[in-house]
Amino acid sequence: MAAHDVRNPLAGLELQLGLLERTASKGQPSPATLLEHVATCHRFVARASSLLGSLLDAAQIGAGKLKLQLERVDLAQVAQEVAARSRGELEAARCDLTLDLGLPVESQWDRSRLDQVVTNLLSNALKYGRGKPVEIAVRQKEGSGVLTVRDHGIGISPGDQKRIFHQFERVATDGIGAGLGLWIVRQIASALGGQIDVQSEVGKGSTFALRLPLRGPAAGETASPPP
Ligand code: ADP
Repeated sequence: MAAHDVRNPLAGLELQLGLLERTASKGQPSPATLLEHVATCHRFVARASSLLGSLLDAAQIGAGKLKLQLERVDLAQVAQEVAARSRGELEAARCDLTLDLGLPVESQWDRSRLDQVVTNLLSNALKYGRGKPVEIAVRQKEGSGVLTVRDHGIGISPGDQKRIFHQFERVATDGIGAGLGLWIVRQIASALGGQIDVQSEVGKGSTFALRLPLRGPAAGETASPPP
């Protein structure tokens, strides 16, 4: 099913290239028209590449090979970096982002995996909360680093709130996404000895909270949660 999902952006790319070919063969398209076609092609390539990345992660996790590169990481800095990199996506989704970052929240974590978690949560917030504000906060609470991503979008019903963290589970029926993102987020949180959960109300929005112990992952804690 997930492999099939990769075909959708590729089919879109194929169509777009055909369109580009026809436009170009009809005469002298303006640079603006050509750039529009190219930008659409880039979006399809990015979509296919992100899906393939998720599939590769899923295969690695399935084979018990989620390797952590532990180093001193500030969770607030990771949030800031992801926000700075996501300006284009925020603009496209017409979402204002508020960053509520206090003091540094540091421990022995895996920088690129945490970046992946924040990127994923923010991208979902934009996907399911288009046109509404999004807030990211990082705090230190009771021996844990806590990162929250809050949107004001479509929300998730109580019955769906558990299953969205499972592999290939999707509630939205827009055909975008393979239902792997939150499962991967949960695997990363768990490998770091922490957890991810959601509070949500349909029609009002969702808040995803990542909690990681500040002592870092303890030996033996990196086992995967059940699928
Ligand atoms: P997908 O790639 O399908 O978005 P995810 O694992 O990231 O996969 O999410 C699983 C499902 O959870 C989505 O299909 C969507 O229905 C729901 N979901 C995730 N994040 C949000 C959110 N911020 N608001 C509403 N629904 C969400």
